[in-house]
Amino acid sequence: MIFQCKNCGGNVIYSPEKKKMYCPYCDSLDSGQRKDTEGDIHICPNCGGEVPLEEHTSATQCPYCDNYIILNERVEGEYAPDLMIPFQYSRDMVKKLMREKFAKSIFAPTDFLSEVMLDTMEGDYVPFWLYDYDVNCQYQGEGRKVRVWTNGDTEYTETSIYDIRRDMDIQFEKIPADASLRMPDEVMDLMEPYRYDQLQPFAPEFLSGFKGERYNMPAEQIEDRAQGKMEEDTHKLLSSTITGYSSVLNQGHNIRINSSQTRYGLLPVWVYSYQYKDQNYPFYINGQTAKIVGKVPISKAKVWVYGATLWAVLTAILALVDVMLTMI
Ligand SMILES: [Zn+2]
Ligand SMILES: [Zn+2]
Repeated sequence: MIFQCKNCGGNVIYSPEKKKMYCPYCDSLDSGQRKDTEGDIHICPNCGGEVPLEEHTSATQCPYCDNYIILNERVEGEYAPDLMIPFQYSRDMVKKLMREKFAKSIFAPTDFLSEVMLDTMEGDYVPFWLYDYDVNCQYQGEGRKVRVWTNGDTEYTETSIYDIRRDMDIQFEKIPADASLRMPDEVMDLMEPYRYDQLQPFAPEFLSGFKGERYNMPAEQIEDRAQGKMEEDTHKLLSSTITGYSSVLNQGHNIRINSSQTRYGLLPVWVYSYQYKDQNYPFYINGQTAKIVGKVPISKAKVWVYGATLWAVLTAILALVDVMLTMI
């Protein structure tokens, strides 16, 4: 499907600034009409060109007419997302942010913040599974408290032994695990936290103007990751309730999942694939919170130029670059 402007026929996209469907050709708001296509999903519904698709692509841009195409088969039926967070940051907003953040990184290559390069940024809806768990955790252990005092020449030691038992019901909501092979898991973990209170029911309109993927693997296949997070948090909760002992002997614990629920969601990420001297420097920007994950490439030639002329300034600026790298 595509969204076509009823006033001018242009391709209507979702605007994070206006929080509405917007026609960039005639400036109309909410003028989009859904146009569905039947037949070969590779054919652009607007210009009839053959659009290259990857196995999991669910939304893309036609390379001939620039229309944003959403593939019905890959956002409907078993692939229909339950929930999504629409982009809150547009390409222009992210460009501005990148410039503010890295303007002082004078060792970055000159084109790193150039208009042409930043325009290659791609807004991607990443498929996620969100897991809810209703968990019971039982724990048994032995705790000791030791008290030592002296009376005259005699030292007394008093050891109190406690039986520690815990029986806790814990509810976990929306533990995320990304279902995209393309997105590195560690990067997606760093993109967290998303504000899940802003999740809303899926609507294909939000995909217009962006790219997207359907889930690459079923929820069961990656559930280990969510369960790992759940168990880690359960242990943290448990140990926060066991304090004040000199020593604790763990005699056994058991985490039982009483019920669970899985939902399929799409989360927004801007991807800036910057290349410098045959090396990739991918940047990822959370499309909801604008959290940036990536590493600034450093141009050695530039460092050398500054080093040869302005040593004092160089050291000061190096310290600044350090701060920047740890911030992101
Ligand atoms: Zn229009
Ligand atoms: Zn086209």
